[in-house]
Amino acid sequence: MATKKKQVARELLFGDLWEFDPAPETAPAGIADRYGLFIGGEFVAPKSKKWFDSISPRDEAKLSEIALAGQADVDAAYAAAAKAFPAWSKLPGAERGKYLYRLARLLQDRAREFAVAETLDGGKPIREARDFDVPMAAAHFFYHAGWADKLEYAAPGRDLRALGVVGQVIPWNFPLLMLAWKLAPALALGNTVVLKPAETTSITALKFAELIRDAGLPPGVVNIVTGAGETGAAVVRHKTAAKIAFTGSTSVGKWIQRELAGTGKRLTLELGGKGANIVFEDAAIDQAVEGIINGIFFNQGHVCCAGSRLLVQESIEAVVLRKLKLRMKSLRTGDPLDKNTDIGAINSKQQWERITELVDAGASEGAEIHQPACELPKKGFYFPPTLLSGVTQSHRVVKEEIFGPVLSILTFRTPDEAVEKANNTAYGLSAGVWTDKGSKYLAVASQLKAGVVWGNSFNKFDPTSPFGGFKESGFGREGGRQGLLEYGELV
Ligand code: NAD
Repeated sequence: MATKKKQVARELLFGDLWEFDPAPETAPAGIADRYGLFIGGEFVAPKSKKWFDSISPRDEAKLSEIALAGQADVDAAYAAAAKAFPAWSKLPGAERGKYLYRLARLLQDRAREFAVAETLDGGKPIREARDFDVPMAAAHFFYHAGWADKLEYAAPGRDLRALGVVGQVIPWNFPLLMLAWKLAPALALGNTVVLKPAETTSITALKFAELIRDAGLPPGVVNIVTGAGETGAAVVRHKTAAKIAFTGSTSVGKWIQRELAGTGKRLTLELGGKGANIVFEDAAIDQAVEGIINGIFFNQGHVCCAGSRLLVQESIEAVVLRKLKLRMKSLRTGDPLDKNTDIGAINSKQQWERITELVDAGASEGAEIHQPACELPKKGFYFPPTLLSGVTQSHRVVKEEIFGPVLSILTFRTPDEAVEKANNTAYGLSAGVWTDKGSKYLAVASQLKAGVVWGNSFNKFDPTSPFGGFKESGFGREGGRQGLLEYGELV
């Protein structure tokens, strides 16, 4: 009886009684009406003479007009990068490091503005843009600034040389952070760059171009071309590129790998994932529930390493499910500019349709769908936090990457079964293990085919820590010494 009362009190506390007043972020985003291409140190109109609209998934309002780079524009960007390469690569590392420090500090100076722009453009909650994306992006520049004059320690006894001009293509889920992951190591080592942001989220990359200009980086060291898949393909195929670094979907990654075969170009691929979050019966359950929530609902689940498959030991399934549903009730889905929002807008209509289609497929295959009651904004693209139970490993929702706020629950009885189910996927990017026993964590983690395995935590990132996948999640690492080495040639 007492337990029942306690539960009701918690439900009231978390779910029904408490309502927060809206707390919208008011800082201006500083978004221009129109952005040209950033080539040779300045913004230029596209030779293609084409532009496209960038809209906010928050309310479908137009934010800006973005240049659509054609082949001649990509050629110009590569020519500028090639021209800048000799001087930039010969600059003493300490000098390159100064530019990177400057970029990091300039980003910190305008952190609030960048956070608002990122939220408007991509739909992520302002809390996450402000406390994660922008500070982490600055941290990557600080970290790699530190490497620039210490390259002899990155590969002791060997000479580490820049590769040349690097082509980089990034996705829409962490636009500024992915830019930082790509630019910082490439520049620290003395490469020059042609970077293409995703078509739905070009704005913070173009705002970053302003910082590049303000930092006085030599013209052509970084060039930013905007556009969709066709522009990306032109960047990937370009004969000037010594290396291509791609983050995005597995299908495009496979195409790029085929395209580059036999060209001698270096390639790193950071692709999709279907991470397993494994909870043993000896875990601290409340802590694990927080980790499960963070693992799947962070950034609306638009996270390549999201813990989208929950594997719970059978003996604790009921209690974990009950606590998860209770916790989900307290999540606020809605205006990403509101500081109280936990789950913001889905990045695009196209992505919203994909999530909807996969959840519908789950329902038609017999999944039980749990979504807490919540009122979603009328305009914009929103999807409620969703839990799918009663699923098996053969369900589409368990096999395919949904890239949205959707969690599937499976159970296991023994550690061996947990490992077998966790590894039963085409992907191999991330996993989480929740247990009170260090030895159990180590035994399980060492058998998981995943680039990163978190212990009693999830979605923890640090510039010093390499990140990357196995199997269809790609190859190569970003971050840490390993990530740095991907941008150099050892002689
Ligand atoms: P996407 O592959 O559709 O697009 C990624 C980028 O590639 C965009 O800039 C796009 O314009 C460009 N592109 C599209 N077609 C291209 C082509 N033929 N040639 C060259 N470039 C092309 O992926 P997305 O939907 O933008 O991103 C979501 C995917 O990214 C998910 O699968 C996610 O798991 C993955 N991702 C992986 C990581 C990682 O580190 N492993 C990180 C973030 C996102």
